[in-house]
Amino acid sequence: MKVYKNYINGRWIESSSKKTFQSLDPATNQSIGKFQLGNEKDVDSAIEAAKNSFKEWSDTPAPKRAEILYEIVRLLKQNKQRLGRLVTTEMGKVLKEGLGDVQEAIDIFEYMAGEGRRLFGYTTPSELKNKFCMTVRKPIGIVSLITPWNFPTAIPAWKLSPALICGNTIVFKPSSDTPLCGIEMIKILEKAGVPKGVVNLITGPGATVGKRMINHPDVRGISFTGNRGTGEFILKNAGIKKVGLELGGKNPIIVMDDADLDLVKEGVIWGAFGTTGQRCTAASRVIIHKDVKEEFEDLLLKDVEKLKLGHGLKSSTDVGPLINKAAVEKTHKYTSIGKREGKLLTGGDIVKGQGFFYKPTIFTDVSSNARIAKEEIFGPSLAIVPINDLNEAIKVANNIEYGLSSSIYTNDIANAFKFIDKVESGISYVNSSTIGAEVHLPFGGVKGTGNGTREAGIEGIHEFSETKAIYIDYSGKLQKTQGID
Ligand code: NAD
Repeated sequence: MKVYKNYINGRWIESSSKKTFQSLDPATNQSIGKFQLGNEKDVDSAIEAAKNSFKEWSDTPAPKRAEILYEIVRLLKQNKQRLGRLVTTEMGKVLKEGLGDVQEAIDIFEYMAGEGRRLFGYTTPSELKNKFCMTVRKPIGIVSLITPWNFPTAIPAWKLSPALICGNTIVFKPSSDTPLCGIEMIKILEKAGVPKGVVNLITGPGATVGKRMINHPDVRGISFTGNRGTGEFILKNAGIKKVGLELGGKNPIIVMDDADLDLVKEGVIWGAFGTTGQRCTAASRVIIHKDVKEEFEDLLLKDVEKLKLGHGLKSSTDVGPLINKAAVEKTHKYTSIGKREGKLLTGGDIVKGQGFFYKPTIFTDVSSNARIAKEEIFGPSLAIVPINDLNEAIKVANNIEYGLSSSIYTNDIANAFKFIDKVESGISYVNSSTIGAEVHLPFGGVKGTGNGTREAGIEGIHEFSETKAIYIDYSGKLQKTQGID
């Protein structure tokens, strides 16, 4: 079996632990390789490399850094089919979504390469004569990037591309469920000419590798995507480093009585069961007007019961496996809870045999305070909550700790705008599902979904840079602000 290595200071090397772990294809339980069980010592070496390469990389003009990013885009495009199949094999999502994952990586690298000729600051008037004021963007320094498994090329790319274009140097830890996707991404960066030491990769446990990446005194910035508990741990242990957190969601689709129910059905199936429900933006609640609930449920059930489970590489598969055994157990635990809290319409079973498969599951007549309507399950499990009007729908939608994505289906423009105004989420859709972000818009959430930062678009540049304010006084005399003579 192939043994993969860590990447430190431009070299692929073994961990000082001399230990490895395996990554599995979740559809077959077959191992796809051995990976270094990294430790704190490896992280320290990676940070040393990042420190030594910082001056040269941050001094490189941003348009020159962009040339390397454009080459990354070219190589990602050239390798899209191979990488898409790898995403499907290591993470489980169906191939068209695996290819979509890689396309998102291509899109964000392309967007951030363009930033090499912008990285805009701004100018603004001074309160004094003969004085010029402006801002510029500067790199943060060494940044730690810690990513989950559900978008194993896209999420690393969302962090690597802005971090690089802003002139930071990097230590990156992919999830232990998808280390090979992380490694293949770094191989592309290496081939594109990212200088040694600028990007370093360590595989291994969050509790040791991840923790050291957070508390190391030379790290200035941390960008983390993952679950809320880990995010809270990071915030507590990061001291005064700049921290970006992208955490969980419990995303609602509101369905009004004037909605096109066929359109809603397609959006709900895509949002709830696409990626086997393992998207932070997955639609896990349908909040529906009671007058159309039964008609909608009939429509939905017919199609959900036809969904085919299987290996994501098979073209007939609609829904792939969950990521691992723990995810199957968690989803099933919520099925037991759901049976006490609502009415099971379909699913609710573990699929016997190889791989981590779970039947698409729907509960109806769920109260908005039920655990299955409030807690993130991160599996193919949907709760339907009936409501009487839009005000109640918005109240139910907001009755959660998270605030990532939300959607409404209605043909009434007033409903749509009221929803946009009052729903508590970082992303909102009208007549479309809760998933489908585009890389030039900010991505992130409010409330328990994060700490206020956003990824992608111009906000991604803000996460990975510092703003410097500059005052140039050309009056030739001491001028004092705030009216002091
Ligand atoms: P996770 O928090 O278990 O793991 C994420 C990463 O953190 C992994 O690399 C892991 O090894 C590392 N880690 C774990 N413990 C750590 C510690 N103590 N210190 C430092 N690093 C540590 O999350 P997951 O199960 O991989 O991902 C699923 C979660 O991610 C879901 O909650 C989902 O909603 C969320 N997610 C959020 C977004 C978003 O943008 N808001 C996007 C995708 C996924």
